[in-house]
Parts: sequence; structure tokens; C-alpha cells
Amino acid sequence: MKNVIIFGPPGAGKGTQSKLIAEKFNLFHVSTGEILRKEIESETILGRVAKHYVEKGELVPDEVIMRMIDEIFVEQNKLKKFKGYLFDGFPRTLHQAKELNKMLKQYKQSETIVINIIVSEKEILKRLLNRAKLENREDDSEDVIMNRINVYKKQTVEVLNYYKEINIKIVDIDGEDTIENVFKKICKHLKPLLD
Ligand code: AMP
Repeated sequence: MKNVIIFGPPGAGKGTQSKLIAEKFNLFHVSTGEILRKEIESETILGRVAKHYVEKGELVPDEVIMRMIDEIFVEQNKLKKFKGYLFDGFPRTLHQAKELNKMLKQYKQSETIVINIIVSEKEILKRLLNRAKLENREDDSEDVIMNRINVYKKQTVEVLNYYKEINIKIVDIDGEDTIENVFKKICKHLKPLLD
């Protein structure tokens, strides 16, 4: 099984790139943010718990996220038609990363690569404020955006150090380019692993 983790700050283009990558390389796209937004919209119990955090730009507690991931793993075990998972917006804490590592170890030949999309803070702010106007996402107001960037710096960046420690390959990609060019650069690195 080959897995890809798309890493980067909010507004780096993780969602857009993930959709393209998942389709091209036949990976099962797991976006925790998308799942949470659907749960919130459908007003499920999980959605009601998550709403409180998402609206403020805080991270949803690890237990809630790991329960979601557990469920996906159980279902996917039955399917087997994908080459592996593409994780988008997950893991976002050290705990999530360690738990994911344990879960992936149950597969004998599991290989994971991290695509780290790098975008400056100035560009992120510009993109997120623009998205707030276009998509009307509740978590895209200016103070919430600032909080999401700070949460990324405080809680999520350390995930990269963990992957370095356990020798998972991390590929840095300059995300300040067109969608097509960023996708091309990512594909160049993924092809040898996934084709
Ligand atoms: P995203 O669409 O990935 O930017 O996620 C939107 C929001 O959902 C985040 O700001 C968090 O509140 C929540 N969220 C998504 N993924 C996670 C995760 N792996 N851990 C904790 N919270 C998450």
C-alpha cells in the first residue's frame, strides 16, 4: 500500500491538489475537513461537537478525529480497489501522526510519502480572505483565519519533525504557483512511487 500525506498551512491548496492527485494515482482521498463539514451540515452528533471547534478555527479533539479515521480504515479494508490513502488535512497533531503510524503498520508493505506545500503567510492570508468571499466558509473570517494559521504553527508544524525523525520521505513543493504547475511538480515526485 502506498500512501500520500498532503501537508501545508490552511490555504496552501491541499484540497485542490488532493482531488487531482487522488484521481490520477487511484488513491482513496481522506479529507478530515470535508468529512467534518458534511457532518456539521447534516447536524449529526459528531457534527454538533465539531462545529464548536471548526467555527473558531481550533482543532477538533484527537479522539473525535481518530474515531473518524478508524471507521474509514474498517470500511476501506473491504474495498481494496485503491493503491492506498491520500490524507488531506490529517494528521494535524503529533498524537494523530503517531496513531496513524500505528494503524498503517498493520499493512505489511506500507510506504508513505509527505508532500509539504510551502506558501508564505502573506499569500495564505490573501487566498483565505478571497475564499471567504467566494465560498462563504464560516471558518474563513479574518480573526478565525488568523487563529487557524497560529494553530498550524503551534500544533501542526511539529508533525513534520516527527516524520523527519521516523525517516518518512518529505518533499517540499513551492505552492506559490498556478494549480497546474504545482500539480505537475507534485506528480514528478509521486510518479516513481505510484506508477
Ligand atoms: P480543513 O478543511 O482541512 O482546513 O479543515 C477545516 C477545519 O476542520 C479545521 O480548521 C479544524 O477545525 C477541523 N479539522 C480538519 N481536520 C482536522 C484534524 N485532522 N484534526 C483536528 N481538526 C481538524
